Amino acid sequence: MRHVKFGKCVKCGREYPAVPNLTNCECGGMIDIVYDYDSIQSRFTKETLSARTDFSMWRYRELLPVEADTEAPPLRVGWSPLYEAPRLAAELGLGRLWVKDDGLNPTASLKDRASAMAVAKAREAGARVIACSSTGNAASSLAGNAAAAGLETYIFVPARAPKGKVAQLMAFGATVISVQGSYEDTFELSRQAIDHWGWYNRNAAINPYLSEGKKTVALELMEQLGWQVPDYIAISVGDGCTIAGLWKGLKDLHAIGFIDRLPRLISAQAGGCCPINRAIAEDRPWEPMAENTLADSIAVGVPRNADKALLAIRESNGLVVNLSDEEIMAAQKLLGRSCGVFGEPAGVTGTAGVAKLCRQGALGSGDTVASVVTGNGLKDVANAIAACGEPISIPSDMDRLLAAFAERGLRPA
Ligand SMILES: *Cc1c(COP(=O)(O)O)cnc(C)c1O
Ligand SMILES: [Zn+2]
Repeated sequence: MRHVKFGKCVKCGREYPAVPNLTNCECGGMIDIVYDYDSIQSRFTKETLSARTDFSMWRYRELLPVEADTEAPPLRVGWSPLYEAPRLAAELGLGRLWVKDDGLNPTASLKDRASAMAVAKAREAGARVIACSSTGNAASSLAGNAAAAGLETYIFVPARAPKGKVAQLMAFGATVISVQGSYEDTFELSRQAIDHWGWYNRNAAINPYLSEGKKTVALELMEQLGWQVPDYIAISVGDGCTIAGLWKGLKDLHAIGFIDRLPRLISAQAGGCCPINRAIAEDRPWEPMAENTLADSIAVGVPRNADKALLAIRESNGLVVNLSDEEIMAAQKLLGRSCGVFGEPAGVTGTAGVAKLCRQGALGSGDTVASVVTGNGLKDVANAIAACGEPISIPSDMDRLLAAFAERGLRPA
């Protein structure tokens, strides 16, 4: 990969050749992939990009850590829609607001970006089996992307994973191990099994290529905005790999001159599980927390990408915001009715954070904000019904319909 220099430990600075199965540094630190921006800049311009007809994450190949002859995996990942949300902006009192619906990826979450990258790197490594542990979406996205590429998968999920995600895993033909315990317990068992069988490891905790896949959400967002940088980008945070990837993509674009400034990040976590935001707010090292939230995808008590995430939030002079389950559920309804975008609880947590910061006066009419919806609401129907309510249930009888409307004060036009 002539455009990649090496992998560099974010903790101690040690450098490693960027081989396909690169994992953590000897010191335990996460590795960051370092690019040769001069070489990239000489071959990659906004004009070359805008002429491309590949509307997937692979349209940014020059900025991705894959060999020139590595085939893009079959599922179409990326180029999710970006919607401007003027009515929601007005309701919140914001200058401008955009919503990027990453729940419209093939397996319905932003994780597809990382899983497609994992499949590409597993092929480069000559692997036939990939494994991971996951709160749910990394698992279903790996199972789907690997199935399409003809690779076998072993998946470890905590017993609490919602049915929709487990159904995806079974449909994609994965061997699924449902671990009776926390996400931390799940991760630990997957680690031992991967060591034992030597599978290709799609754990964001150790695979430095995954945040490189996730960074394509930033590349797309900026291209879709015509390279006009918003003041803030909001996203939900669990393990920390996603926000780290988002920041990496923005820094890449800045380094090659595609954007002229960097936005501030908004890190949104659940109040019941916010080790990363707590470390920022109290300016001290992160500490494990319990996993008390219905937003299962971001219930990560021991974040493995905390170092990268903390760096990203601090470098961007970012904001942190913690949401109660009630605030997350309210945002699910708010996004649905104002934008027609249906997100799972963790998917809407970034937008819940934007709404809360508006209520607190930290964001207002002078600010422009993009918010990433990271996962689709159909993954967790039980929580969606709990958040948004039950329908009017009556027999097929016009009088009963009139009575039901009258009871609820509904006067159809
Ligand atoms: C994984 C996930 C996140 C958070 O990503 P991390 O890398 O764990 O911080 C947010 N939303 C959804 C829907 C996810 O699946
Ligand atoms: Zn190190």
